[in-house]
Amino acid sequence: MSKEPNTTDFNQLGLSPKILDNLSSIGYKTPTEIQTKAIPHVMMGRSVIGVAQTGTGKTAAFLLPIIDRLTRVRARARMPRVVILSPTRELSDQIGENFELYSKSTGLTHALLIGGVSAQKQEVSLGKGADVIIATPGRFIDLQERGRLMLHMVDYFVIDEADRMLDMGFIPDIEKINRLLPPKKLTLMFTATMEKGIRKIAQKFLSDPIEITVEPERKTAENVTQFYTRVASRSDKDKALLSYLREQDVNTAIIFCNLKSNIPKLKSYLTKHLKAQNILTLHGDLTQHTRNQRLDEFINKEAQYLICS
Ligand code: AMP
Repeated sequence: MSKEPNTTDFNQLGLSPKILDNLSSIGYKTPTEIQTKAIPHVMMGRSVIGVAQTGTGKTAAFLLPIIDRLTRVRARARMPRVVILSPTRELSDQIGENFELYSKSTGLTHALLIGGVSAQKQEVSLGKGADVIIATPGRFIDLQERGRLMLHMVDYFVIDEADRMLDMGFIPDIEKINRLLPPKKLTLMFTATMEKGIRKIAQKFLSDPIEITVEPERKTAENVTQFYTRVASRSDKDKALLSYLREQDVNTAIIFCNLKSNIPKLKSYLTKHLKAQNILTLHGDLTQHTRNQRLDEFINKEAQYLICS
């Protein structure tokens, strides 16, 4: 993930033994570049703006030090101490899954407040008490307006994928949420790009932040050939993929979809048209055990195609 070999160890970052145990049982061996660079600052209470794309390990870069801090400082009551905003339900869901893994056996809880699912259930999970709120901005505001959120104990505010938030018009919502949170809190912002608009937003939300930029590794494996195809519309993408898989002698392929919800559709489309039985899928709704199993099957060539989010 980083350009130079990362020689830092997780146990050099000051994380508690419980978190280190969790990381080792998940199978993380060394921190990624953004983790090495960001975690010590967050542990020391410095606000951070991380310019890092998905895939760099940015989620753990903010979750691990926050979990660490939460476990060290006892809560006076079970009220939210962290608010993490992301632009999409799927991303929030993924952050929630990662939180569960990293905070195992710490007793910390989270509430996932996202649109498209019952707000009632979310109110119940809030009622039980959650240390961390992971939300999309719309649903957060909705529940706040209904008086369901107690926000005066919030110490950490994370704005993930700020550039996408900007594209999707969420910035006024985030400003509103920022005003609802206590002024004295640590704010962390992550973005894939540092375009002009984002810098302005950063100035608005963060005070004296440290800026950390991580370049995604762009090296392509030697046995991979790259090219791209233009299609006239979104609906032509599946057809273009199908004809490519048919025309070229593709032995095995990993196919990435930008949305988890597209995966089953693409799977049935390819199964039907290629008469293939050996198509596997890989996404965040599967347990880690199943994910590992499927990856193994793909690596062992028991399956020809792996469709992933
Ligand atoms: P993210 O950029 O946060 O979306 O993370 C990308 C992927 O990298 C996720 O599947 C994480 O589970 C994984 N990941 C994060 N940190 C590490 C690490 N230190 N070692 C191995 N995998 C990691």
